[in-house]
Order: sequence, then C-alpha cells, then structure tokens
Amino acid sequence: MRENKKTTQPLSIFELKEVSKTYDQLPALENITIRVPEGHWIGILGESGSGKSTLLQIAARHLDADKGAAFLHGKELPHVGSQLLKGHPKIKLVHQEFHLFPGQTVRENIAYPIRLERPAYVAQRTNELIELAGLEEVRNQKAKTLSGGEKQRTAIAMALSELPDLLLLDETFAHLDGLNRSRLTRLFQQLKARERQSCIFVTHAPTEAMDWADSLIVLRKGKIVQSGTPIEVYDLPVSAYVAELTGNVNWLDKTGRKFIRPEKVRVSRQEPVGPHMTGRIRHTHFRGLHWEYSCELENGLWWVVYRLRNDLKPDQTVYLRFSEKDTRHIK
Ligand code: ADP
Ligand code: MG
Repeated sequence: MRENKKTTQPLSIFELKEVSKTYDQLPALENITIRVPEGHWIGILGESGSGKSTLLQIAARHLDADKGAAFLHGKELPHVGSQLLKGHPKIKLVHQEFHLFPGQTVRENIAYPIRLERPAYVAQRTNELIELAGLEEVRNQKAKTLSGGEKQRTAIAMALSELPDLLLLDETFAHLDGLNRSRLTRLFQQLKARERQSCIFVTHAPTEAMDWADSLIVLRKGKIVQSGTPIEVYDLPVSAYVAELTGNVNWLDKTGRKFIRPEKVRVSRQEPVGPHMTGRIRHTHFRGLHWEYSCELENGLWWVVYRLRNDLKPDQTVYLRFSEKDTRHIK
C-alpha cells in the first residue's frame, strides 16, 4: 500500500492561514499561507516593500491581519487588538535594529527576559546562551561597546532566553562581514540541532537565504510567487524576478525567458573549437573565494562569469561556452 504523504509530514508548530493585510487601501499582503514544521527554518525573500516585515509583525502578534488566522500548535491565536499586551510569550521577533539595553552587560541583557525565574536557572540558561552565541569573551561588556556582529548575536540570544517556540528574524543580519556571517551560521546550525528551534527569517541576500533555509518563500507585492527548497527555487525559478532575487543571471536573449547561471559558464582566453560566444571583459570584482567579471557580449548582452584566478583584464576578449542542458526557460 502506498503511504499517504500527508501523515509523514512533520506537524506544523506555527501556521498563517490565508492572511491578508491592507494599509490605507493598499494591499501589503494577499492570501498568505505558511506552515512552519518543528525545527524548520523558512527564509522569506523579496524586494523592498514586498511585505516581508508586515508578515513577521503579524506572525509575532504585533499586528492584526485584516483576514485570515494564525495558529500555534494547532490552536488559533486571539486577535492582537483584543489583548492587553501585544506579542506572544512563545513567539520572539528580533528586529533589524536590535533593542538592547545599552548600559547593561551582555549577560544582563540575555538574562533580562527571564529575570523573574529562579536565580540558578537564570544563571544556567544565560551561560548556555552565551556559549551558544559565542559571546564568552564579551559577556561582561556593556552592550553599547559591542561590535555590530556581537550586538546581533546578543539580540538573538536575548530572544532565545525564554525558549520561544518560534523565532522571527527581520533582516537581523544585514551588513554582516564574513567572520560574523560564519559565526551566525554556526549559531543557527546549533540552534537547529540542539534546540530544535523553528524560525522564519527575512532577508534580501540570496546567500543567506540559500544557506540557512530549509524552505524558501519568495514574496512580490504581498503575494507568494514561489516556494520550495532553496535548490528548487534557485534552479527552477518561475519568473525573472525570482531568478534575479536568488542569484546572478545571464540572459540568453532579450526576452528575459532563457538564462544560464554564471557558474555553468566556462570562460577561456583562447578561442575554442565548437560553439561558443565572444565577449569583452568590462569590470572585475574580487569576491574572496572567486573573481567575478562583467562581460559585454557581441550581441549586446551583459553577462557575469566567475573564475578562481584574477587572470582576465578589462577590454580583453574572452570566449564563453556552456552546455544546453544547463540553460533554463521561464514559462
Ligand atoms: P518589506 O519589509 O518587504 O520591505 P513592508 O512589510 O515593510 O515590506 O511593507 C510592505 C508595504 O506596506 C510597503 O508598500 C510599505 O510602504 C507599506 N507599509 C508598511 N508599513 C506600513 C504602515 N505602517 N502604514 C502604511 N503603509 C505601510
Ligand atoms: Mg522590511
């Protein structure tokens, strides 16, 4: 007998169902349904103004939707307007500008939400989070003296001290350098593995979205235009918008229907035998692990190509080859 797929899916700990929200008659979200299985990280990707923060505000119970409902562990959550306090004790939102107490230490900030618990528990939980977030060296430093990355990790640790069922991160990692990005990646991996933390995070950076999400949701003008695993969304985008939001795109014609990702294009300095395209290098960008070149093709299109070495110079003629199977069509 075939197994019913539905029964093997993990239970959702949180769900938004057919949620819509309008500001001054302008729709900000339209008919959004999102399910968060336990331990799952959902990345929300979308251009500025696409409704990402509105979605998190509604999930955090800071804002009421006009239509639709929110469920935690299958139980519908009451309207925000009917409650004494906004928010929900088991749902924690970390904003872009983290709300830390500047004159308090890292330890005091992290302990603040649980300050009324038993002192032994507060000490144990705070130590755990300091270690988890890699803040050992700055634990007694005042928040105002921290670097941006340390502030971000302190804010996340603070949101976690009360063991939320759902963590919401709204571009908490904008402007991160490489070191802080990898520290945050490690923190997230440990949160998933050790605490089974569930999370919805908002970003406009494709690398974060690909790296941290179990599944991705792409928003445009308040609507979900695509959802799936990062690989599905990256490899089979449904529109030019999704293709360009998830990475670099080389268009094969001017209609914006057929493209190839730069990592599938081979660049050479000598003219190869067999089919190829010819272009000229225009700009060079150092990307750390690789070099990225902007290249103007003979047919007037501009492409991006990657190389591990910096061995192409501006104005140099280059030859580009790719395999037809790596091209993608947008329907
Ligand atoms: P994002 O986070 O993706 O940039 P937002 O959710 O902040 O998007 O905004 C979605 C749309 O709703 C935008 O057009 C924005 O101008 C509008 N908007 C957001 N907040 C308000 C508000 N408090 N009042 C009126 N319009 C708003
Ligand atoms: Mg926003």
